[in-house]
Amino acid sequence: MSITPLMPVYPRCSVRPVAGEHCHLITEDGTRYLDFASGIAVNLLGHSHEGLISAIQRQAATLMHVSNLYGSPQGEALAQRLVDITFADTVFFTNSGAEAVEAAIKTARAYHQAGGDTTRYELITFNNAFHGRTMATISASSQEKMHKGFAPLLSGFRYVEFNDLEGARAAIGPQTAGFLVEPIQGEGGIRVGTPEFIRGLRELADEHDLMLAFDEVQCGVARTGTFYAYEQYGVEPDILATAKGIGGGFPLGACLATEKAARGMTFGSHGSTYGGNPLAMAAGMAVMDAVANPQFLADVREKGERLRTRLEQFIGNYPELFEGVRGMGLMLGLKLRSEPRPFMVHLRDNHQLLTVAAADDTLRILPPLVIGDAEIDEFMEKLSSAAASYAVPEAA
Ligand SMILES: *Cc1c(COP(=O)(O)O)cnc(C)c1O
Repeated sequence: MSITPLMPVYPRCSVRPVAGEHCHLITEDGTRYLDFASGIAVNLLGHSHEGLISAIQRQAATLMHVSNLYGSPQGEALAQRLVDITFADTVFFTNSGAEAVEAAIKTARAYHQAGGDTTRYELITFNNAFHGRTMATISASSQEKMHKGFAPLLSGFRYVEFNDLEGARAAIGPQTAGFLVEPIQGEGGIRVGTPEFIRGLRELADEHDLMLAFDEVQCGVARTGTFYAYEQYGVEPDILATAKGIGGGFPLGACLATEKAARGMTFGSHGSTYGGNPLAMAAGMAVMDAVANPQFLADVREKGERLRTRLEQFIGNYPELFEGVRGMGLMLGLKLRSEPRPFMVHLRDNHQLLTVAAADDTLRILPPLVIGDAEIDEFMEKLSSAAASYAVPEAA
């Protein structure tokens, strides 16, 4: 037998963390890594946040799980809190981002079907989007590498170039149910939706009675310096998928919707065994306690600006290696002039700095939102010695 007990869908990696301390991960042999990946935008409070740990410990000792067949004071409290600070009137809790997007897709389709229109089922999505790995969410993405081997895909998705408002307008037909879009593409390479594009989609949705669904699984929950990124565009969606940061490391996601958008999501139409269980709700509430306040959000914007300015100054020293910096808040992308993976591996293996490679030759910089000057300094030092010692590999 040669297959590994862990299904080999991920690369084997020599970094094997066993503990976490604030913004560092520690491996089996005691090596410390500066974590500017945060489990891909998940550990927004770092790895040893007292409030999050004690909330989970307390809830685990009180009540971990009950079925959604019973009432949930914990779920009601977290849903109310999300409703209070967002566009949404109602919340469905999930365990992951893909499930949150699935719920968003179902909500958008059900909106039309509950209104008596069964012809409108198609969502317009955007090239290089990432929405998850379930059948519906890979079908929602144009990326062929995620489709390979899994045909047939789910029908009802149509792909248009990101940031192409005219393309989106032209794709609308009698079967269109709405748009599904990441305001800032994560996997796609920290590509920021332009204000004209995001606002234009809102106008098109209003004009044609379509659902506008934002996938904020990666860019949401304080990452960009507002609780959700859409706040910075001055438009509101009808539906929003959130996950990653919202549990701070505990698996939690949610689909948020307005009352109008959720008209098809009635008793018995959807469900989840674990979704919204008391343990997850305790984690979500502790994250909200820490991040959903104006001071924390202002700090994220300020730290984002500082990091970005330093990156922009720094890359001027290596014009042959770096092309530019993009992103919002602490969701930053360093665009390289070559494949980002070898540079990510060099940072990781030779300089103990963790980042995430993305499409479009971009390295994602996604630190915990609780970084301070010390971590920014350490990051810049590691990046700078890594750039000095890096030889761009010959193209294969
Ligand atoms: C990570 C991600 C998902 C999928 O989340 P999972 O928790 O891995 O299912 C969906 N959309 C976006 C934008 C993501 O970044």
